[in-house]
Amino acid sequence: MSKKQKKMLVRIIIAAALMIALHFVPVQGYARFVLYLVPYLIIGYDILIKAFKGIKNRQPFDESLLMAVATIGAVIIALTDSGDYTEAIAVMLFYQVGEWFQSYAVGKSRRNISELMDIRPDYANVERDGKLEQVDPDEVGPGSVIVVQPGEKVPIDGMILEGDTALNTSALTGESLPREVHEGDEVLSGCINMTGVLKIRTTKEFGESTVSKILDLVENASSRKSKSEQFITKFARIYTPAVVYSAIALAVLPPLVRMAALGMGPDWETWIYRALTFLVISCPCALVISIPLSFFAGIGGASNEGVLVKGSNYLETLAQTKYVVFDKTGTMTRGVFEVDGIHHNKMEDEKLLEYAALAECASSHPISKSLQRAYGKELDRSRVSDIKEISGNGVTAVVDGITVAAGNTKLMKRLGIDYIDCHSIGTIIHMAVNGTYAGHIVISDIVKPHAKEAVTALKAAGVQKTVMLTGDTRNVAEQAASLLGIDQVYSELLPADKVDKVEELLAEKPEKAKLAFVGDGINDAPVLSRADIGIAMGAMGSDAAIEAADIVLMDDDPMKIAKAIRISRKCLRIVYENIWFAIGIKLICLVLGAAGIANMWLAIFADVGVMIIAVLNAIRALFVKKL
Ligand code: ADP
Ligand code: MG
Repeated sequence: MSKKQKKMLVRIIIAAALMIALHFVPVQGYARFVLYLVPYLIIGYDILIKAFKGIKNRQPFDESLLMAVATIGAVIIALTDSGDYTEAIAVMLFYQVGEWFQSYAVGKSRRNISELMDIRPDYANVERDGKLEQVDPDEVGPGSVIVVQPGEKVPIDGMILEGDTALNTSALTGESLPREVHEGDEVLSGCINMTGVLKIRTTKEFGESTVSKILDLVENASSRKSKSEQFITKFARIYTPAVVYSAIALAVLPPLVRMAALGMGPDWETWIYRALTFLVISCPCALVISIPLSFFAGIGGASNEGVLVKGSNYLETLAQTKYVVFDKTGTMTRGVFEVDGIHHNKMEDEKLLEYAALAECASSHPISKSLQRAYGKELDRSRVSDIKEISGNGVTAVVDGITVAAGNTKLMKRLGIDYIDCHSIGTIIHMAVNGTYAGHIVISDIVKPHAKEAVTALKAAGVQKTVMLTGDTRNVAEQAASLLGIDQVYSELLPADKVDKVEELLAEKPEKAKLAFVGDGINDAPVLSRADIGIAMGAMGSDAAIEAADIVLMDDDPMKIAKAIRISRKCLRIVYENIWFAIGIKLICLVLGAAGIANMWLAIFADVGVMIIAVLNAIRALFVKKL
């Protein structure tokens, strides 16, 4: 509880106690008025000040004004008539109880969500003179050696120099099984070291490490407002004045009609009282509070599952996704190629592989990494210069003073080199050395373990069409697509062709259906931003893709796409439930109030009740059913 909340609680208790105590004090007239004024002001002074400030700043139409007018009106009626001031005090009291509950619930759930995502490391251990010292992770540069003991969080991304352990990666990926890692493996910051001591050579600065990036994303997520949230802001702008004018009409018109048309007494008191009740009922607080809270909880729930959503607007779009377009390599396949064969080569296999690995030494493409791994030896980068990567084609470089090209048939055509077609199914890396054809390396990739289930799960979640776009050759693409059960496949595409294809699909789909693109590479960045919603692979994916995407899957598991859609649907369902529930109850109460059936007591109870239920409902978005 914050200081402000404690102070409010004290005010509530004192005012309530005084209000009850005054029932036993037998005074009448102005003395009674003055006595009752004390609890009224204790509980309501800040509301009166706010309402007054609103009028002074010419922006009077807010909840404070509604409460101020309603309670001051009730006091005046009591002064002239019954002398029962309890009602005015009680209305203010319950309103404040509602406000208090709201700030408490919001504060608590925000804290809970941040706690659930508590991945920020406080320190890094650095070994100095044989002793461990705790330093601020910000002070540790890339290439430093840090020590992570069992039970500690990995503070910075890096590679294991020494030690084996099991890592708990659940904060990053939502995966509950620990992951075994050994010397030479990469580790991401935010994982918790469970069993062994690790020595890690850092590969990034703290600010560039996975943890920092995730925290940035989540902290900035709420600044991107969804349509439903914008709707509420607009709604309140029209709603409050409308209510105030209706209340004035309710106070004035019926008495005038009674006098003029029916020849009866005006009965001002009854109608003014009804108008005041109407004002109390109309406070839109439940609506205003519960909607952003629902989105916040939805984003928190998703991140617990290893799905980072960069803004509440994306949850809204994701919920309407009907077309899902995939990239192949690295997205649906593991992106870890094995060499199946080397054909038509003019030099030793080993030598050709060495040239390929050296030429590829600067690329982050999965193919390049796989060739480097297949070569297996340390690469001396000083032997390589003039590296050019042509996306969707391959690379060219100068190795030991000799030009080397490694890529697909497009690259060979581009360089004007005659190549020999390959008859094996696989991804073919044609090689040219010194301007002449030097044979090809056949490599192949396997689909990710959950890829097929992921496509099935998407269909089950109501996705109508799945499409695969790839730069790889036709037979590889078709084989993968039929294995996965994907509806449509387009192959041998350059990055720009992928954008064209996505635009075609965007034009073809019904307006309301949204299209999601899922990809991992630098060459996917343009498509990721062009699609209605871009989903990137977070672990293997390139920084450009993660940057361009709206949603990031932390563990690269395509299964999470369907999960993210389910989460977004649940969140949106809750948002709409709250909107209809709050507006519905409001309307019923307004009618009852205008008809004189509901009094102020009932009105305030309804309001606080609706708010509490709406807030509790919003918090449900945090929890996701396991698939
Ligand atoms: P995908 O769309 O399946 O992710 P890309 O567009 O990244 O594939 O690449 C398409 C094709 O371009 C690859 O199958 C490969 O033939 C060739 N290619 C791209 N980058 C490289 C590279 N660094 N080395 C060799 N070939 C490459
Ligand atoms: Mg790719």
